[in-house]
Amino acid sequence: MAGGPGSYVFGQEEIKEVMDVLNTGFLFRYGKEDDPKFNHKVATFEKEFAAHMGAKYCVATSSGTGSLLCCLAAIGVGPGDEVIVPGYTFIASISSIALSNAIPVLAEINESLTIDPDDIEKKITSKTKAIMPVHMLGNPCDMDRIMEIAKKHNLYVIEDCCQAVGAEYKGKKVGTIGDIAAYSLNVFKTITAGDGGAVVTNDLDLYERAFGFHDQGHKPSRMGVEVGNRSILGMNMRMNELTGAVSLAQIRKLPAILDTLRAKKAILKNELKKVEGLGFRVINDENECATLLTLLLPSKEVADKLGAKIGSKTISHSGWHVYNNMEQVLEMKTACPRSWEMASGGIDASAKYSKHMLPATDAILDRAMNISVGVVDAGLGSAFGININSTEEEIKNVAENLIAVLKEVL
Ligand SMILES: *Cc1c(COP(=O)(O)O)cnc(C)c1O
Repeated sequence: MAGGPGSYVFGQEEIKEVMDVLNTGFLFRYGKEDDPKFNHKVATFEKEFAAHMGAKYCVATSSGTGSLLCCLAAIGVGPGDEVIVPGYTFIASISSIALSNAIPVLAEINESLTIDPDDIEKKITSKTKAIMPVHMLGNPCDMDRIMEIAKKHNLYVIEDCCQAVGAEYKGKKVGTIGDIAAYSLNVFKTITAGDGGAVVTNDLDLYERAFGFHDQGHKPSRMGVEVGNRSILGMNMRMNELTGAVSLAQIRKLPAILDTLRAKKAILKNELKKVEGLGFRVINDENECATLLTLLLPSKEVADKLGAKIGSKTISHSGWHVYNNMEQVLEMKTACPRSWEMASGGIDASAKYSKHMLPATDAILDRAMNISVGVVDAGLGSAFGININSTEEEIKNVAENLIAVLKEVL
């Protein structure tokens, strides 16, 4: 089964929460507060999600992509603005910037497989408005450096936490370090409701703008004056009560999911550490999500050979998350073809984006191989490995098989 750890631990708890909703028929997130039949699952999820993160505010949304759009709108990113984003990420990090009529500026990653702070500094111009670090594959970015750069240049920081819900950086949950953050609850993520998302911030003004953007400009929870008092033109990215019910059961399982993944990854990694000549990506904080184990092989040739033998692919060839494989970005195929070019001040996409424009990123991903720990996803290059329910014996077997193959190719 392909999917993230949350989908592997789906059970009676989710069913109970959903049945509460089905038994009353209140499917909309807003209901009569004084009606005992109204469950407010979405509002409860928002409270518990914010509490888990140690953040003041949370808006539940319909997706991670929607959450990113809310973050960008909250900050006021628009035509002519540049946002620095890594070239190794899910396409939504990049497309959400372009669809806010701003310019995604692609930056290199380093051996942590997250955005390289040195390259961020090189890409800053007078138009730069924000940095969007992406905590890729559950691993927190180098947030100390990123926040230092942002402060120095007066830039906003939007954390893309879609792959890293619950990961910690120096004692803080990711998503609470920058100005505002986006999370995803799609099926491949650490916790899931099939689809869904969340925005988190500690800033009341950003919260109200993000909330308004996700719900036609309304104030949080549609409380207080409506007509005449709406401050932003918004969309509909609301979460419904059924999704809220599943999300609520899943956020309550997050601590146990992370403990389990960290313990299982440690068993696998400790076995593989015995192999001489095998490297691993840099982990910026051991309290990462541990959803994946990324191997760094000594060369592209060795990495390709390993992929062929285990029925998987290096990250370069795994498809979806590498800018080289995003023809919609490279040619900026927005719905109205010239809209983005015009909004960007006449910039020609072919001059801005091209295959192999990030040589350091290409060189790292050519020799990087994802082994699943909790996220089983061929699109991410993690078709091989273990899952959250694997026993210690199964993990040791996988390690033994992998070590045998590694000895042949190294
Ligand atoms: C999954 C993901 C998203 C988008 O989330 P959806 O819920 O699928 O819209 C955005 N950014 C990253 C890094 C992701 O992995």
